[in-house]
Amino acid sequence: MRQDIATLVELQQIDHQIAKIEAQIAGGYAEIEKSGLEIAEGRAAIAQLQEKIEASEARRRELEAGVEDELARIKERQTKLMNVQTNREYQSLLKEIEDGKKNNKQREEELVLLLEQVESLRAKLTEETNVCEAKDKLLGEAQARADQQAAELNDKKGKIAKVRDEKAGEVAPTLLRKYEMLRQRRNGTAIAPVLNGVCRGCNMNIPPQLYIELQKAQQLLSCPTCNRLMFHEVEEEKV
Ligand SMILES: [Zn+2]
Repeated sequence: MRQDIATLVELQQIDHQIAKIEAQIAGGYAEIEKSGLEIAEGRAAIAQLQEKIEASEARRRELEAGVEDELARIKERQTKLMNVQTNREYQSLLKEIEDGKKNNKQREEELVLLLEQVESLRAKLTEETNVCEAKDKLLGEAQARADQQAAELNDKKGKIAKVRDEKAGEVAPTLLRKYEMLRQRRNGTAIAPVLNGVCRGCNMNIPPQLYIELQKAQQLLSCPTCNRLMFHEVEEEKV
């Protein structure tokens, strides 16, 4: 039984190493995922700016056409003015011409504002595009680094996994199944050290009688609180 405990402890150490490597690989890609999301947001902002610019341009064309049409109408009325019969008709045409000029003045004012707006939107678009491109470039580099790091870590993991398989082969199948089940359910730790009567898996005290049994190391015991297998760890004296 002492040997079983020792083997499980070694297996647990190896599994912790593997879990650490897996976390490192995932951590490297988590950063990249974050950058990718930022770039996607940037692209959405760019698309929105482009839409705004297009809408402003459409409005500009509409206003310019409006100015042209109005000028044609004014000209037409000015021609009519020469042939009017009544004063009433004359006044009415004059008013129409005046209104047309007013409308065009409004259109021209809106056009000026619109041009300023488009100019500022275009400046923003250029800026956003530059930022996005720079981020994209960095992301490409980060991706390459993460891939390389992952390849190295996977290589390391593969070597450790071989040792792990050998170690696991030394454990009786039923015990190994129990170990695996606990490892899955207990956050990667199936066998926990007990130091000074405290289970380091859950940091709870274990009953004194159980602690005495544990120190004998004659049987595999489970923590009454977290259910993990336990082994007695002697506190190393500091030299
Ligand atoms: Zn415990």
